[in-house]
Amino acid sequence: MWYSSKQWGKTVSLALSALMLAAFVSCGKSNKPIANAHDTAKATERSISMATFEPTSTHSQSTTTSAEETQAATKTNAAKKSSRKTSQTQATQPTSSESSQEAVKPYDGFLGSARSLDGTTVVFSIFASDLSVQWNENSQTDAETMKDTLDNLWRGTSYLTEQVANFDKTASFIYDWEKDPDLRYTASFDDYLVTEYGDKYDLQRDWVVANIDTDAVKARYHADNAVYLFFFNTDYSNQVNPWTLGYTNCSAYDVEFCNIYVKFDDVFITPPSTYAHEIMHCFGAHDLYYANAYISQEYVDYCKKTGSNDIMYTVNDGKWIINDFTELDAYYVGLTDHCDEVEKWGLAKSEHLA
Ligand SMILES: [Zn+2]
Repeated sequence: MWYSSKQWGKTVSLALSALMLAAFVSCGKSNKPIANAHDTAKATERSISMATFEPTSTHSQSTTTSAEETQAATKTNAAKKSSRKTSQTQATQPTSSESSQEAVKPYDGFLGSARSLDGTTVVFSIFASDLSVQWNENSQTDAETMKDTLDNLWRGTSYLTEQVANFDKTASFIYDWEKDPDLRYTASFDDYLVTEYGDKYDLQRDWVVANIDTDAVKARYHADNAVYLFFFNTDYSNQVNPWTLGYTNCSAYDVEFCNIYVKFDDVFITPPSTYAHEIMHCFGAHDLYYANAYISQEYVDYCKKTGSNDIMYTVNDGKWIINDFTELDAYYVGLTDHCDEVEKWGLAKSEHLA
């Protein structure tokens, strides 16, 4: 079902997030613009931001060097560490003594930190303050908001686990930072990160690399994937929808993270369906509500015409997710190797099959 503002007013979420809401996103070290914002952004669908993406062919070309680029970027980040302007505070940090003895498979840069949804995923929650919004650890209100994000995370990941099971696969999530405090962090950035522009990717990516020992945590939980959720304590006045950056945006984006702005667009508290939607981006799912390098305008029109309830096309408000996890989504997140609609509509091939 398609929920429009006319049908449901402000009681439902129209807040699908774009992979990038940016006019320009620096990809890797080149600062090359890879996306151009539509002039119609937020015009036709008030709460849906639109963007186009780097042509698939360009992605393919850069994929061949992604591992090298990633390694180079990692070294560069380590060198930058001492001069980084961003200040960081860790609430918790994995201790080396807890690190698993088992071997951790070296990261090869392929498909980013989140690969197939069929597997175990550690979800890092990072409560981020910047120059515009802050978290106050002593505030009861903020503590409750933080707790709400954990509840939403439970609902969002439970939904994914259930949906993936329909494809005879297993998606497990390790996310509960109350139970496992090495999954919770706080960060403070000397910059503005509540923005529709994704050009601050490196800033957040560098923070992750410098502050989270991902390999050790993955080994501890026997996990295959890692996703990073940055939570920003925005108020309703915030007009920026949650969004995600990862491998689907740029093959050099090895750290795949979601920016969750907890409130936005005058009325919305970011619902569990948005959590699931954003996490799915990390695994390769594409937005279906605007034409981009992967999804044709014809298919977008088809979704609109048929009132698609695909979670990559629309998200519902409320505590329980009622959106569909379709065969197309399953294909793009690595659960299947075929989808009739891809052939029928000429949609892009899954990154998992590239
Ligand atoms: Zn999206």
